[in-house]
Amino acid sequence: MSLSVTVCAAVFGGASAAFVPRPAHRLAVPRGDHPRSTCAACAAALTTWVRAGAPCPCARPPVWTVMAGAVVTGVLAATTGPALMLLVLLPVAMLGILLAVIDLRCLRLPDALVALLGVATVVPLSLGAVVAGDPGRVGRGMLAALLSGAIYLVVALLPGGGLGLGDVKLAAVLGFTLGFVGWEALVAGLVAPHLINGPAALILLLTRRAGRRTGMPLGPALLTGALLAIALT
Ligand SMILES: [Zn+2]
Repeated sequence: MSLSVTVCAAVFGGASAAFVPRPAHRLAVPRGDHPRSTCAACAAALTTWVRAGAPCPCARPPVWTVMAGAVVTGVLAATTGPALMLLVLLPVAMLGILLAVIDLRCLRLPDALVALLGVATVVPLSLGAVVAGDPGRVGRGMLAALLSGAIYLVVALLPGGGLGLGDVKLAAVLGFTLGFVGWEALVAGLVAPHLINGPAALILLLTRRAGRRTGMPLGPALLTGALLAIALT
């Protein structure tokens, strides 16, 4: 892929990700609560959803979020090229970062955002495949979504599985895009999250930043795993 497309995508990703902290801060609330209307740290009013940089003037600049946005979109552009797939995945990546930040903060993946992620991928990719005369990819994506959702549902229902239904729904939604890319991508996307979360949990335990009973978000690993699967297969 051309360097200029990759650099443009990374700049888009970094700039867009700067707008993630405000909605993430407002939406990172316990299930059933309304979005936050005041800052959790200083109680200042958060009247709008749009703010570049820190969620509130009292917070630090979101350096990691911006870097994650640039890396994710740069990797997508470098590996998928300026095709329909890239046009669909660039904005979707920002939704993914928003979901990951919320999950890291409050161990939740809001249904509305997961549904939006699904619509934003399934509709344009399906239309594109049908127009390109390759509807089989849509069927493969649907089957992959079902398989991925079913596998994660079984794990979630196991005692001590440690998964929430939000993880199951996200796995199903990501399964569509992985299956759309190919079966290898689906397998990689199913395995990678555990290769990411396993060592991460071990490091947190060893550095005593988490205990055996600390809840561990799976959403960021699911999203990172899907990104790696799409990039590497
Ligand atoms: Zn504040």
